Amino acid sequence: MLTAERRAPRLPGSRHSPGFSLGEAAQIRRDVLTMSSHPECPRCGGELDVVGAKGADDIIWITTCADCRLSLVVHRRAGDLV
Ligand SMILES: [Zn+2]
Repeated sequence: MLTAERRAPRLPGSRHSPGFSLGEAAQIRRDVLTMSSHPECPRCGGELDVVGAKGADDIIWITTCADCRLSLVVHRRAGDLV
């Protein structure tokens, strides 16, 4: 069951893509990696819920908008420059 995809249904007639654009994703990535401010959804301005998981050589954050339910995975390998 692909339940994860059911959380962000495409609205009938909506021209919005089911995910963030490249520009939006870049903004989220920058916010998460720099931790300079609380990450905000570039699509709707809602609050992004950020869950991080740290591995031996990398860190992954899963960001999900509380309002529009779009999500993005931010991956940072050890040694990456922000
Ligand atoms: Zn949103």
